[in-house]
Amino acid sequence: MSDDMKHADTGNQNQNPGHDEEKGITRRQALKYIGYGTGGLIVAGGAGFYGYRKSLQISSSEAAQVRKAKFVFAGGSIGGLTVAARLLRAVPGADVTIIEPREIHHYQPGYTLVAAGVYDRSDVIYDQESLFLPGMKWVKDYVEAFEPDQNRVITRNGEVIDYDYLIVGIGVEMNLDSIENLREALDTDYVANIYNLSSGEKYRKLAKDFNGGNAVFTYPAGYLKCGGAPQKITWLSEDLWRSEGKRDRTEVHFYTTRETIFPAVPRVDQAVRPLIEARGIHNYYSQTLRAIDISTRTAIFEETTASGDVREVHQPYDLLHPMPRFQAPKPLREGPLTREGIGGQLSVDRETLQHTQYPNIFGVGDNAATGAAKTAATIRKQAPVVAGNLIDIVLGYEPSNKYDGASGCPLLTRYGRCMMFEFDFEGNLIHEWLYRPTEETRIWWDFKVHGLKRLYRHVMMNGYV
Ligand SMILES: Cc1cc2nc3c(=O)[nH]c(=O)nc-3n(C[C@H](O)[C@H](O)[C@H](O)COP(=O)(O)OP(=O)(O)OC[C@H]3O[C@@H](n4cnc5c(N)ncnc54)[C@H](O)[C@@H]3O)c2cc1C
Repeated sequence: MSDDMKHADTGNQNQNPGHDEEKGITRRQALKYIGYGTGGLIVAGGAGFYGYRKSLQISSSEAAQVRKAKFVFAGGSIGGLTVAARLLRAVPGADVTIIEPREIHHYQPGYTLVAAGVYDRSDVIYDQESLFLPGMKWVKDYVEAFEPDQNRVITRNGEVIDYDYLIVGIGVEMNLDSIENLREALDTDYVANIYNLSSGEKYRKLAKDFNGGNAVFTYPAGYLKCGGAPQKITWLSEDLWRSEGKRDRTEVHFYTTRETIFPAVPRVDQAVRPLIEARGIHNYYSQTLRAIDISTRTAIFEETTASGDVREVHQPYDLLHPMPRFQAPKPLREGPLTREGIGGQLSVDRETLQHTQYPNIFGVGDNAATGAAKTAATIRKQAPVVAGNLIDIVLGYEPSNKYDGASGCPLLTRYGRCMMFEFDFEGNLIHEWLYRPTEETRIWWDFKVHGLKRLYRHVMMNGYV
């Protein structure tokens, strides 16, 4: 990767963190604020750590009872591993088996930064084996079928694995057949998708080499992981082309199936919309990408008009970032653990994360039908709930821990700037005092680039949640 992209932030005038005096703050005051901030962090960190330690406390006889149970995890990514690690912190020696086919783990929240030229591939991959804590047994295979009435799963290699408790975290995947000609289009020199690492690397090159014309970005119908990523790559690309002097010969088009840019959180939507419109990005609403005509380089959308009519819209492209629909993996969507109306996801109670039909099965992460955002930030909140409820039911209690729908999003609005926010099931902002959620700030960009990966790898995956 070229240095100019890796350090793209240095050339952007919006990056200047600002001199203290320019903002009317003296250096002495700045130091005072830093002192308050550090003090606050120490107090909050201390309280958090105390709460965490307390939440792990169970008696030795209870721990002995938990050690007799067999916990099997379908999927060993951030969801499964965070719950498993948290369980082992509470009950060292618990019987934990992880069924995970991949030898290489992908830090998917870093994909956007790979596509933007800030991260390299090596920044987002880990040896799967290095992620397991002592005591985790690894079955390197796919779950082919769930057989909940027999308390067992069957793997692709035909192994039968029994469990007392099953935790399902196999994620969701793109359905490349949901857009006509998408598979073929992704092989051309004008189309790439950042939800796949190799294609994201291709996108970085296409964006870098782009020399003007129509850049077209889309947003799918239904659920998707990280609902902010399609917007982030649109806005970062626009910023890149602006800084490279290509903007005046480029039209940036963002087509979304939704009725506004960021419907999940109305206050963020209201804050971000004028900023984006001022940058001359063309936003189109209620538009679904149906097909791609490769020979004429045209994206074909279906637009639902205000009167409910559907009409076809043809948009020529010189660079296309298409977003297909998502789906649950086959053993889930075609198996016994889902139900009608939830797109093949795992049917769980959205607060306890317990399966709606099988009490010894829990869900975590993207595959769980909670209605919450599908992000690693969501998992940070769900994992202690699942681990706590597993212990509850092993000990014969009702699940007492409740997930409140909280999720978070680092909305990268341009190089060096980020709107960071947390929100609940209803899209209300939470912890506003911490984030300044409706402002584009440098500090949260730095946290996204340098901090979140460490939180993911060293805090979550070690069970310190
Ligand atoms: C482009 C992009 C940007 C993102 N940005 C952010 C962000 O900024 N912030 C944020 O918090 N989140 C972000 N996310 C979302 C985040 O990566 C996901 O929410 C998170 O990875 C979900 O974790 P999971 O464990 O539920 O599923 P996944 O991480 O998808 O893992 C599922 C695991 O299940 C395994 N598996 C699949 N099928 C089977 C099977 N049949 N049997 C056994 N194992 C199976 C897979 O190999 C995989 O390891 C982003 C995602 C993408 C793609």
